[in-house]
This record gives sequence, C-alpha cells and structure tokens, in this order.
Amino acid sequence: MANENSKNRKAILVTPELCIGCRACQVACKSWNQLPGIKTKNNGSYQNPPDLASAAYNIIRYNEVPSQDNPVRWLFVSRRCMHCDDAGCMKICPSGALYKTDEGAVAFDRDKCIGCKLCVTACPFDVPRYDADGKVTKCHLCFDRIGAGMSPACVKTCPTGALKYGDREELISTARKDGFATLYGEQDLGGLGSVYAFKEEPKLYGMVENPAIPSSVNFWHTYLKPLSVIGLGGVVAAAAIHYLAIGPHKDNEEEV
Ligand code: SF4
Ligand code: SF4
Ligand code: SF4
Repeated sequence: MANENSKNRKAILVTPELCIGCRACQVACKSWNQLPGIKTKNNGSYQNPPDLASAAYNIIRYNEVPSQDNPVRWLFVSRRCMHCDDAGCMKICPSGALYKTDEGAVAFDRDKCIGCKLCVTACPFDVPRYDADGKVTKCHLCFDRIGAGMSPACVKTCPTGALKYGDREELISTARKDGFATLYGEQDLGGLGSVYAFKEEPKLYGMVENPAIPSSVNFWHTYLKPLSVIGLGGVVAAAAIHYLAIGPHKDNEEEV
C-alpha cells in the first residue's frame, strides 16, 4: 500500500557500481550526528566497522567476489536504514518512538523509546541498534536536514554520485532511463526510501532477498497493539510480546 505522503516522498538512490569505497559518507554521518568513534578489531577485511552500530548509522560493505581478471573484485555497497513504507519497526513499536516524517523518513524520538528492542526483531534488514542508555538509534534520513531543504549529509559528501537524494519517483525514473535493470526496493515493503540501482544481481552485493516483516509482527500490530493503547500499557504489552517472540530480555550485545 502506498504511503499517503507518497506524492512528497523523498528517497536516497544508491548506485553501488559508482561507489569507490572511500567511506566519506560514513564520516559525514558521524560528523553531522556527532557520533563517537568505535573501537574495532581487524578481522581480515577493509570493511570497518564490521556492521551498523549505535555510533555507525551507515557503513560501506566490502563484498569480495571471485573475478577472472583480478585476484579479488570488490563490490562496495552502502548499508543503512531502508526507510520502508510498510515499516516493521514502526508497526511493532509500542511507545511511538519510531515515526514517519512528511518526506517518508522513518525517524526516532529517543525520549519515547522504552528500550524493549522489539524493533530489532521486526526489521527485515537488521538495522536498529541501541545506545549506551538502551535507546534506539539508526539512520533517520537526516530528517533535520531534509526538513530544512538540504540533502542528507552522506549524500552531500559522496564524491561520485553513488548516493543521490531527491523525489523518489524521479530518482527511480532516471535510474531506469540510465539502463539499470534492477531497482531494489522499488516495490518491496510498500516501496523503500533507500532504493538501489543494480545492473547485476542484488544478491552479489549481499542484499536481503525478498525482505518481509515477520508474521508475528503483523499479528502484534493487528491484534495486540490496540490492546496496549486501550489500557494494557505499552511497557507491559511490549514485555509480553518480547517474551513470546524472542524470550527473556538479554543485556545489550552490541560490540564495544
Ligand atoms: S529498514 Fe528496518 S529500521 Fe529501517 S524503516 Fe525498515 S523496518 Fe524500520
Ligand atoms: S541519511 Fe543522514 S543519518 Fe542517514 S546515513 Fe546519511 S548522514 Fe547518516
Ligand atoms: S561517499 Fe560515495 S563513493 Fe564514497 S564510500 Fe560513500 S557511497 Fe561510496
């Protein structure tokens, strides 16, 4: 189902074949959002940090694939929140901490986050992370910048055009005219706000195949969440669904 704000819907178009892996987008995001550095270990890859983290809203994934001409072929791709139209994180969030802006960005209000981590289980792309206070963090499509008519910090800094920001329909139409056979995210989950233009198979770049919201999340959204609004209480309801879905609460397992 299309977002009621789809006429105004903005998006980031990611074109991995233009990405040179410079990671300026990672740095720009950290700078704009004042995110601290992360201590990581060398695990045999130039990819750093190894995955999204509370202080890393986007990363460049370094996919190493076999090649006839070179010992290794690198396929760089930006990993970030997809800003789903049908967003599992928003569907399950019992406190309203995750919300959608007029431009279609899925943003968060950390003051409303109760730290239940349900959004982690509901996200088909394993995006939400938690900070040291147990509050949700993730890419918010620079809602503060785009709301003021600017482009997201990562897009602004990308030197090659691998990241573009603008009207979602126009970005898709231009990418199609430019000969990109696959527009990953054009239709998935109601249409993603991070659309990827590929000439090769998306799975070569490690993209999630057929992303879907877990059925337990849809059940929660349809039958149990309204109860929490009526009076069961968001925290109690969240605790119940958390226990049913993923078992007893564990401490934050994010890397140090
Ligand atoms: S990618 Fe995950 S965190 Fe981002 S909007 Fe979709 S469900 Fe939410
Ligand atoms: S859109 Fe903003 S918050 Fe999201 S990855 Fe880019 S710079 Fe970071
Ligand atoms: S700034 Fe652009 S070219 Fe550099 S790593 Fe990010 S997406 Fe790739």
